[in-house]
Amino acid sequence: METKFRESINKALHNPNLTGALGRFSEAYRISRQKAYEGYDFEALRTQIAERKSYAASHLDELADLFTKNAEARGTKVFRTNDPAKVREYILNLARENGVKSVVKSKSMASEEIHLNKHLELAGIEVGETDLGEWIVQLAGQTPSHMVMPAIHMSKEEVTTVFNEQVEEGQKPDIPKLVKFARGKLRAKFLKAEMGITGANIAVAETGTLVIVTNEGNARLVTTLPNIHVAIVGIEKLMEKFDDVVPVLTALPKSATAQLMTSYVSMISGPVPNTDGTPKQLHIILMDNRRTEMSQDPKFKQAMQCIRCASCLNVCPVFRLVGGHVFGKIYTGGIGTILTAWFDALKSSDDIQSLCIQCGNCTEVCPGKIDIPGLILELRRRLAVENGQPLAQKAIFSVVNNRRLFHSMLRAGSLMQKPLQKDGFIRHLPFFLSEMTEFRSLPAIAETPFRDTFKTIQQPASKEKIAFYAGCLIDFAYPEMGESLVKILNKAGIEVVFPEGQTCCGAPARYSGAYEVAAQNASDNIKALLADDVTYVVSACPTCTAALKQEFISTFESLGQTGSLPRARELADKVIDFSSLVKKLVDEGRLKFKEGHQLGKITYHDSCHLKRTLHASQPPRDLLAQAGYEIAEMYEADMCCGMGGSYSLKLPEISAPILERKLTNIKNSGAPLAVMDCPGCVMQIRGGLDKQNSTIKVEHTVQRLVDELE
Ligand code: SF4
Repeated sequence: METKFRESINKALHNPNLTGALGRFSEAYRISRQKAYEGYDFEALRTQIAERKSYAASHLDELADLFTKNAEARGTKVFRTNDPAKVREYILNLARENGVKSVVKSKSMASEEIHLNKHLELAGIEVGETDLGEWIVQLAGQTPSHMVMPAIHMSKEEVTTVFNEQVEEGQKPDIPKLVKFARGKLRAKFLKAEMGITGANIAVAETGTLVIVTNEGNARLVTTLPNIHVAIVGIEKLMEKFDDVVPVLTALPKSATAQLMTSYVSMISGPVPNTDGTPKQLHIILMDNRRTEMSQDPKFKQAMQCIRCASCLNVCPVFRLVGGHVFGKIYTGGIGTILTAWFDALKSSDDIQSLCIQCGNCTEVCPGKIDIPGLILELRRRLAVENGQPLAQKAIFSVVNNRRLFHSMLRAGSLMQKPLQKDGFIRHLPFFLSEMTEFRSLPAIAETPFRDTFKTIQQPASKEKIAFYAGCLIDFAYPEMGESLVKILNKAGIEVVFPEGQTCCGAPARYSGAYEVAAQNASDNIKALLADDVTYVVSACPTCTAALKQEFISTFESLGQTGSLPRARELADKVIDFSSLVKKLVDEGRLKFKEGHQLGKITYHDSCHLKRTLHASQPPRDLLAQAGYEIAEMYEADMCCGMGGSYSLKLPEISAPILERKLTNIKNSGAPLAVMDCPGCVMQIRGGLDKQNSTIKVEHTVQRLVDELE
């Protein structure tokens, strides 16, 4: 990671205006978005959008031809190119031919993508942004920090300073007055401009219509007042039918700004006369810039389903801390990282891809149904192929890939840590490792790993056997969780087997882009876990469960190792998370809770993989309630705790404030006990509370249930 990038992160984290404004917006957005979608079937709506956009991405040439034919039949000039330089050249030539001195623009990410303003300004043409946020960042000499709200990173005081310095002195930090002032200044620009430049939200092929959505009405003025209108349209905006507009327009305002409807929707199906009666020139530029190539990539084609609503940014726990400028390019956030890798260069995404903590919040709200974290992992994989793995990482993974060596090192670590640990925690690490224990204590490595303890557990023999996949944390840090799981399944008359050959689930390697290592881990685990005739393979770590159930398959697919897929699928069919299995056993009457227990208040934290990958956030809540606990829901229970596997080690400066917010929400719930299904979250949250000397206890669901079941 480049020092400059790390500095930009730290600068953002220490900017109270930025973190304050984004934090408040992000909290309010989640609530108002939910309200805006009340009464709508979001899943059905986004499936419609995804299908129609995916169809368009598969038929780009055909739709571009149809759009061109229909638009030109109405008197529009359509220019199609793959090359951003040709877009700039086309617009500059057009401006020169028509003696254009002044241009007004409504917000257009495509024009930002090709750095159009700078190009026109160098040629002596005045360019005025007319979207209020865009105008503010233009005056401030910045780039937009957000796709929908370009100036969201600025406070009203900062905007006032910009207006005073760049436009006219005497402005005060009063929002209605600042807006009125801006409107007056912008109106003069509209009236003076000879050319208006816009983007478009949708380009309908069957009618040759552009659909432009704004809240400020500025696009109406940009497209009607100047004699020339140029629309720069990325070809991912093409859709086949007029009817396709409906789902996009239904989702866009709700997802973008949590509004039921947007204020202005303009549909342009050909040039209209100017106010003096002369015909308006309408030019539509269909810009490719690697979009066709993207649509032909089996992994990245889905990125063409993006409707640029930016809701993925609004819910991202990292974006709300660091904002958009750390991404350093035009497109920001998770989807911005993907678009930067394609529209700029793969290497441009090298640092910024590391910001993704893989929590999956973005995918949950994406109206285009895009697996943003999955695509970021694919970027990591391609970057690792292109750049090679860093040496230190290579050395670590070569150990992880050798199960015996890896486990011997953990056992040795258990002995070596003795001077550093107290009460099961390591609270301070020396030298360059100190940063790891600055914001949370770490768990000590267990004296006896679960794999050794397991051999000493007396189990009733049973015909029904379930294999237990422990994962590294339960095996080597929290063996008591594994012991509780065995006790619970024994109570249901099930014998637990622990395949010795099981090893790391490969998540650390996969999340670092080292897919070959992850594939080796997958193969070793498949061999071990399918060796016995078992009904299920259960795991009490959602990250591991997700790996066993889904990621082994996608890792083999990414590497083209199709021969490994049948066994990976066989394993996936048997894998179940702990709480879902116990819920099933309770529902079947094979496990019963002790009666009449009033166990008091607890709060429950959703681990990201359990909630968003395995979709199993309800079973643990049901079980804990059935056991006799009163669940006091914490605020943002499903927000990431900042652990993210090795993320908390790579980017502790981001992990720490995310954890801080989680700890505050836990404390505010008033519960003396926080429960969760993920040993990784236990490690992060328990360690964070220990660092703060809190009396709140943190436990895995398995430990809360073990004594409450008969
Ligand atoms: S990726 Fe999804 S959520 Fe993000 S901007 Fe695109 S459509 Fe919106």
